[in-house]
Amino acid sequence: MTHDMEQTMACINCGRSEDELPLMAWRAARRSFWICPDCLPLLIHRRDEVMPRWDLSAHSPQDSG
Ligand SMILES: [Zn+2]
Repeated sequence: MTHDMEQTMACINCGRSEDELPLMAWRAARRSFWICPDCLPLLIHRRDEVMPRWDLSAHSPQDSG
């Protein structure tokens, strides 16, 4: 039996694992990621800001400036 555990279950923002606190699985831009309750408000309130930072934007970020 082969386990595909290449993707570590850790919060995409703070990097803490499910051993430390609960993690929720989300999907965006055809990717799945994990996020903890402490960082979930970021996704809710500052989504436009954090999604590019987490490389989850549907559209590629433009370098302007
Ligand atoms: Zn977190």
